[in-house]
Amino acid sequence: MCGIICYVGKDKAEPILIEGLKRLEYRGYDSAGLAVQDGDQICCHRAKGKIIELEKKIGDMTIPGNTGIAHTRWATHGEPTEANAHPHSDNDGNVFVIHNGIIENYYSLKKNLKKSGAVFKSETDTEVLAHLIASYFDGDLNKAVRQTMAKVEGTFGMAVIHKQVPDEIVVARRGSPLIIGVSDGGTFAASDVSAMVRYTNKVVHLNDNELATITADDFTISTGQAQTVQRSAETVEWAAEDADLNGFPHFMLKEIYEQPDTIQNAIRGRIDRGEGVPKLGGLSPVWEQLKECRHIVIVACGTSYYAGCEAKYVFEKLTEIDVTVALASEFRYRKLNFAPNTFIIAMSQSGETADTLAAIREARRKGASLLGIVNVVGSSIARETDAGVYNHAGPEIGVASTKIFISQLTVLTLMALLLGRHQNLSLTDGVETIRALEALPDQVKDILSKANDIQAIAEKYHKHGNWLFLGRKYGYPIAMEGALKLKEISYIHAEGYAAGEMKHGPIALINPKMPTVAIIFQDSMYEKMISNIQEIKSRRGPIIAIATEGDEKIRELADDVIYIPKTLDILNPILSVVPCQLLAYYCAQLLGRNIDKPRNLAKSVTVE
Ligand code: GLU
Repeated sequence: MCGIICYVGKDKAEPILIEGLKRLEYRGYDSAGLAVQDGDQICCHRAKGKIIELEKKIGDMTIPGNTGIAHTRWATHGEPTEANAHPHSDNDGNVFVIHNGIIENYYSLKKNLKKSGAVFKSETDTEVLAHLIASYFDGDLNKAVRQTMAKVEGTFGMAVIHKQVPDEIVVARRGSPLIIGVSDGGTFAASDVSAMVRYTNKVVHLNDNELATITADDFTISTGQAQTVQRSAETVEWAAEDADLNGFPHFMLKEIYEQPDTIQNAIRGRIDRGEGVPKLGGLSPVWEQLKECRHIVIVACGTSYYAGCEAKYVFEKLTEIDVTVALASEFRYRKLNFAPNTFIIAMSQSGETADTLAAIREARRKGASLLGIVNVVGSSIARETDAGVYNHAGPEIGVASTKIFISQLTVLTLMALLLGRHQNLSLTDGVETIRALEALPDQVKDILSKANDIQAIAEKYHKHGNWLFLGRKYGYPIAMEGALKLKEISYIHAEGYAAGEMKHGPIALINPKMPTVAIIFQDSMYEKMISNIQEIKSRRGPIIAIATEGDEKIRELADDVIYIPKTLDILNPILSVVPCQLLAYYCAQLLGRNIDKPRNLAKSVTVE
């Protein structure tokens, strides 16, 4: 999920690695480290926090050696500490590994490795790679990595060096990106072109399940089945500055486009297709109590709160549980009365949101059990809750949350499905839900492929100063989130409303200058939404509809239609938020706003 940079060549490796790590900083990370090889010596340094901390550790020491691997970590397993920072090594300190991604079967591998004498020094999943590679090594590092790849499940981009194999780095990938860079001065490998673009623009992409041995003047690629692959270098056109964004003009857009992967990362390794049941290991500490639970309160702020509002409908559909959603800033000051066996779910990207943290402390005082859904491993909320599920969405840099919202909805759906399957939900429904969840990444890609149409709609309406977003049931929280996205990055005034509330006030605002975004699915609310749209139409209000593919009727009523693919009712929100994000993004771009850092807003709200 985070950054890798490796170098083998004519020059000293350490300064190149540090420079590369700095170029990866924009991705966000919690710790960093490097290992440099000089003959049969390997010198390794790691530090918690920023790269400057790593530099301080290295201080005036000279690190000789022209071969090295370096990493910025975004913790998924084990807190962000120095002991968990990469590189990781085996018992004898022969193998050094850096890794992006998640080894899903690390637990069982670790158990077996321990039996055969491996001593683990970290809590990471990554460390199993070091011990496995060491156990297979017989002088051929490439082979040992290949054998390891066959044993591990999950995702990895990894780079490995071995004391007995000087001037050689083996890299491999499955799921996480890895790119080789070639230059006259040496060979690079990185998770991202930006880390090496200062030295070369000639790159070779590794495909999934491929590995490569890189040396100062050569690289050889092979498949996991040891078949040699011929691939020549391509030239990338990016300037160093552009590469950070991978060609996207803003992080927000980049993160919107990452959402197919975000959904996949939230689901990966967490489902049993045959049984139609999710597997959420993070809930096991409280499982016996949780499966009997009948009351959940979701506590969150901002976009996370809207994800919670959406989850209420999903839990209602899949479980017997009564869900209340509360704004953390209100909840923390209420006189709380919980029914017995109430669980609180605290949701926050950073896991540090001050109001959410205060809310769970108050709930704890009143005896509730606490679950967390956070993206940052080891964050305060992760530590102060009894159990929870991580988003595994990687860092989100844009201030306006996009991929985390989608990730939260996915994780909450998995939780609801898990509980539902232990209550009344049938096997058929479970299997069907999982199948629909697995189809989402491609469906999101399909929506993203229509970005130009959405941009054209933004061009038409971005000068309108007031917008209304309407939805019912599953569409209502999306209306609120859509309005929030638009106001926070474009500064256009927007309101998200339950369409049924129109007649109680907002209808007075409708006029030809006020566009309404209508979120309309082909579900039980369809006809009601159509009536609301008619009401707006007869007052000459422009309508932008976000509707289900195949809905021809809506074309006659709306001025503009953005179609989303068909899915289950409970998953419509995940798809329908994507056009809202793009609409907000393009309006803000046309208005020349500072999209990634909108005025007056901060990414992690650690003040009340
Ligand atoms: N799963 C690994 C860890 O927690 C790698 C995380 C990353 O991609 O940075 O250490």
